[in-house]
Amino acid sequence: MDNLITKLKILAEGAKYDVSCSSSGVERKNKGKIGSSRSFGICHTWSSDGRCISLLKVLMSNNCIYDCTYCINRVSNDIKRASFSPEEIAKLTFEFYRRNYIEGLFLSSAVEKNPDYTSENICKALEILRFKYGFSGYIHVKGIPNTSKDLMNKLGFLADRLSINIELPSEKSLKLLAPQKKTKTLLLPMRDLNNKIMENRDERSRYKKAKKFLPAGQTTQMIVGASQDSDYQLLKTSQILYDKFSLKRVFYSAYIPVVENSLLPAVNTKPPLKREHRLYQADWLLRFYNFRADELLSEEIRNFDLEFDPKINWAFNNIGQFPKEINKVSYDELLRIPGIGPKSAGRIVKERKFFPLNYDNLKRIGVVLKRAKYFITCSGKYYGGIDISPELIKYKLGEMENSRQISFF
Ligand code: SF4
Repeated sequence: MDNLITKLKILAEGAKYDVSCSSSGVERKNKGKIGSSRSFGICHTWSSDGRCISLLKVLMSNNCIYDCTYCINRVSNDIKRASFSPEEIAKLTFEFYRRNYIEGLFLSSAVEKNPDYTSENICKALEILRFKYGFSGYIHVKGIPNTSKDLMNKLGFLADRLSINIELPSEKSLKLLAPQKKTKTLLLPMRDLNNKIMENRDERSRYKKAKKFLPAGQTTQMIVGASQDSDYQLLKTSQILYDKFSLKRVFYSAYIPVVENSLLPAVNTKPPLKREHRLYQADWLLRFYNFRADELLSEEIRNFDLEFDPKINWAFNNIGQFPKEINKVSYDELLRIPGIGPKSAGRIVKERKFFPLNYDNLKRIGVVLKRAKYFITCSGKYYGGIDISPELIKYKLGEMENSRQISFF
């Protein structure tokens, strides 16, 4: 048992840099008080119906044959190594589940011996868990690039979600920091998985009893700030992944320097969390607001402004399109107004069918106007109170933010 706990500490620590859950990397001791946050072991994700699920987050092995410069588990790093057997990982998950610590499993792995060997072990662990222990909870696994197609398909029938981490968005950065990885070997399995998901959807619409293949789809992760890649490069890559492979999510992980290397930011550099946050906001705009990467950034403006969010920045750069008359513009155009999201846009479209909306009507139906008022007219009337100029609006929004902070203290 002691051996198993030691392995769990090592392999949960190695998994914490994967950001598919929000509690990654939290470390807070409870000092004898109620509640605790462990730096390893349990993380959270959200199901399609919005429930928060706790997962056992762990590596199958940290014994990697690859030498990706940015990674704590790389072969040249002098750290404690460990590997779980498939039976061990299955039993551990089941026991944690029985004790009500977790509801699912997030299983990743370093590349041990070779991609097929590693994926075989993950497959065996999942088979034991599903068939011997009868576990039907949520399982998210990491796909190992260069794994044979058959094994990848087998994994797809055992897991709910699979992710192949692209990590770096350009061939140039991969060459520099992860020379054993190639863009093609990362993208091909994503394409194959997407084809299989479509095929399975079609099969299941015809045969109700057909087995589900990756019902929660596929995702990936990119590291922010380990390479010289700009936000534009990262976002363009995400756009391609959403368009071509119907990815459910791209996760962005602010690079935490773990090694002194001239190719990487120095070890005492803070992770670029604000940049990561702006990328998540922009990613949201791609997925739910019909924006394209090329509209938000360009070869000339390659990184997001850290002061204002990507949507309001887009509005500043396209100020000639404003103000928009909320009683006339389409749903898609409403979505482009800063401060108006899909819920508010939906309400506006529904309500304006009966009568033209004024400013008070917007408030009544719950539209938040503190930003939007600078970009709209209601029945021809403008309520911003200042000229529509990015500088003046920035000033007003800055004032608002300051007074919010003062009232908070
Ligand atoms: S293959 Fe994965 S685990 Fe191995 S060094 Fe590269 S990033 Fe780390």
